[in-house]
Amino acid sequence: MAFLPVTRFRHFSRGGLIAVGLAVAVPALILVAVGITLTLRLAREVASESARYNAYVADKVTEAFEHELLDQVRDAIGPAEEAARAGGDAEAIRTALASRAQRFEAPHFVPVDDLTGYSLVTVDLQLLVYGTDTSGVREHPFAAVLLRGPTGDIVGAGGWWFNPRAFVVEHLSNVVQAQLLSNQRLYGGIAGTRNLAVQIFDAEGHELARMREPGRSATARSAPMTGPFETYTVRVTPTAGAPVAIAGRFMVVELAFIALLALALLAATVVGLRYVRRQIELVQTQASFMANVTHELKTPIAVIRLAVETLEMGRFRSNEERDKYLHTITRETSRLSQLVDNILDFSRFESGARQLRLGPVDLRAVVETAMESFRLRLEDEGFHYEVVLPDKLPMARADGMTIQHCLLNLLDNAVKYSRQRKEVRVGAGVRDGMVTLWVSDRGIGIDAANQKRIFEKFVRVETGLVHDVKGAGLGLSLVDRIVRAHHGRVEVESQPGEGSTFTLLLPRWEAASGSPPAEARSAEGS
Ligand code: ADP
Repeated sequence: MAFLPVTRFRHFSRGGLIAVGLAVAVPALILVAVGITLTLRLAREVASESARYNAYVADKVTEAFEHELLDQVRDAIGPAEEAARAGGDAEAIRTALASRAQRFEAPHFVPVDDLTGYSLVTVDLQLLVYGTDTSGVREHPFAAVLLRGPTGDIVGAGGWWFNPRAFVVEHLSNVVQAQLLSNQRLYGGIAGTRNLAVQIFDAEGHELARMREPGRSATARSAPMTGPFETYTVRVTPTAGAPVAIAGRFMVVELAFIALLALALLAATVVGLRYVRRQIELVQTQASFMANVTHELKTPIAVIRLAVETLEMGRFRSNEERDKYLHTITRETSRLSQLVDNILDFSRFESGARQLRLGPVDLRAVVETAMESFRLRLEDEGFHYEVVLPDKLPMARADGMTIQHCLLNLLDNAVKYSRQRKEVRVGAGVRDGMVTLWVSDRGIGIDAANQKRIFEKFVRVETGLVHDVKGAGLGLSLVDRIVRAHHGRVEVESQPGEGSTFTLLLPRWEAASGSPPAEARSAEGS
């Protein structure tokens, strides 16, 4: 068995490990927190910038519609302008307007004296006249330009009544794609409108028209339209392919990535620290194992030496006393040899060098042979014992010697961990289609939390009695390894203060009948 140097770990405390963990985890978590904060801040900045931009574009859409409207009016006003310049009267101008009315509703001319009540808006350094019908006959607004007479004086405003709902529906795409995008001088080259969806809603909130599909964005902005389109609202939203939407998705991915990184970091720290703690515990238990073994070896040697010296010098008073010394020598020698066997077996099992010689084994014979050598000790220590063997028992597929060794370990424990109620029962039987060997005592028992741990190497339950009882914490782990190498299992049933029953379950020989005695590597079940 190779033992690690332990001195360095002797004083290694739980607090030390926690400090190491914190030293790794805290700076890493601070970095993660900084990463998350910066990302969120950046996301907020990008979102507020996008929202401002969308609000700006929403404002500009009204202007662009007015621009489009003026273009349409200018496009059709030629004949009316000519009629006015030629000094034509209102009737002549109306007739000229009527010749180009196709794209609007009815033509309309307002003499200069009647222009009060109409509004004027400057679009691209030109004037657009608009207004509603104060007489209430027409429900739609009027759009016009000023007309000049032969002397250059303004004679009135000539234009058409038009349907703004139909106008926005028809011209939205042109407004967004041509006016906003190409009119650098007016709109400062809003090239980014390529990634914006524009929707127009009426006063009831019904959507009249849309240009491109709006993406899901919190940065959408609305603005009421003004002038001839004043009852409508425009809403500007980035499309799904807009840089702000891409940046939003990227930030979600980045945050998820940072969160995963933090989780991985924490998990790695916890797993790493647990591993280190287990290694330290192992080294510490090995250290106490060494101390136990040394003590276990020295005590019987000292007792044997004393007994031999006494006998050698003839310092006994009677034959009974001499037999007592001889008996002591026998007992301590067998204890020594069992300990040495355990240590050697264990290291052979650890290195995988131990091989099992599997064959049909009658576990009743194993019990009887073990009891032959153990009976003396039981009687010596004042135990009542009972051997329970059935008349018929299937053969086990086992290595008889090693199983006997296991049984001796269990018997040894039963004796060691019993207090006043010195009762041991041992037997063999059948369960779950397997052959069993069991040892039961009425000793101190093992609490549920420790029932698994005791099969680990060097583990001893820290109860008062264990401090008084000698042991290296190897027996059960060796038993477990041996039985698992047989493809069997060990079970323990125990109540603290009531006693324990250890059961070895081994495969039956019939299961493998016909096969010759086999050899199994010791390590296969471990
Ligand atoms: P050791 O007996 O040398 O300490 P073992 O591996 O045989 O090592 O046992 C491990 C621990 O399991 C013991 O230290 C003891 O705490 C507990 N144990 C084993 N057998 C019994 C038993 N029959 N009754 C109570 N506790 C037991």
